[in-house]
Amino acid sequence: MDEGEGEKIRLGVSSCLLGEEVRFDGGHKRDLFLTDVLGPFVDWVPVCPEVEIGLGIPRDTIRLVGDAAAPRLVVEKTGEDLTARMRRYAEAKVRALEALGLHGYVLKRASPSCGLFRVRVHHPNGLPSAAGRGLYAEALVARFPLLPIEEEGRLTDAGIRENFVERVFAVARWRRFLAAGPRPRDLVAFHAAQKLAVLAHSPAHYAALGRLVARTGRALTRAALDEYGTALMEALAVRATRARHTNVLQHLAGYVKRELDAPGRAELAEAIQEYRRGLAPLVVPLTLVRHYVRRFGVASLADQVYLDPHPKELMLRNHV
Ligand code: SF4
Repeated sequence: MDEGEGEKIRLGVSSCLLGEEVRFDGGHKRDLFLTDVLGPFVDWVPVCPEVEIGLGIPRDTIRLVGDAAAPRLVVEKTGEDLTARMRRYAEAKVRALEALGLHGYVLKRASPSCGLFRVRVHHPNGLPSAAGRGLYAEALVARFPLLPIEEEGRLTDAGIRENFVERVFAVARWRRFLAAGPRPRDLVAFHAAQKLAVLAHSPAHYAALGRLVARTGRALTRAALDEYGTALMEALAVRATRARHTNVLQHLAGYVKRELDAPGRAELAEAIQEYRRGLAPLVVPLTLVRHYVRRFGVASLADQVYLDPHPKELMLRNHV
């Protein structure tokens, strides 16, 4: 989170990932990254759709069957069809979640209720295909198309993990901005602070957002804010690359270079090149840049979200 901005982020989560014993076999799937690393920054909103539709603990296993594009949810042993019950519940639940202002959601992979990607769909004749989506997850994505939603399994990938957390904190930042009742010049300042973060993800969105802010001029309408918020979230959903990070780092170095002596410039250039070649994590050149920004009081960079997009304790930029 922007340092010092206090309030926790609020994430929906499949209950079993927090260690709640709600699975079909009475067990859980506690995820240590979520509970121990991300947990201190989060107010969790745990949901177990299967328990909430009245299935017991333990319970017979359920699965998706039929057409992967429109699968049915059935009890494996008895063939009881739970599709309508789960869909009804999911619609009502995601509507109720709207009032909670979630900043993101983490779902349990492979579940016929919670799984987001490649959930098995069984066919009466033939092999299952890994092409489905859990029915609860489907309702969630339909209701909150811009919300960062991920599976715990994918969050073991360092790039996906950073992208998810960065977007979650961006949602929180954007909501705080909206809640403050912004005036036109506030959007200009907000955008100026996001610029380099956006550039690391998507140069195309960077250009489009700049045009949008310029065109907004004196009239900051609700429609313009919605358009900006949507484009910002879409930009950050594009995965940042090493090449784009390098570009942003060089951009940042351009601001501090004139204050540095020759050895200082060489050290910074070397740190950026080592990152570019995959020999050092992003945190190395960034720490150096951040240090110089503060030491030289580079006012135009002091508020750049790119320098501090999420809490350092999460160490999301420490991988090579
Ligand atoms: S995956 Fe979803 S439905 Fe299954 S136990 Fe976990 S929270 Fe409940």
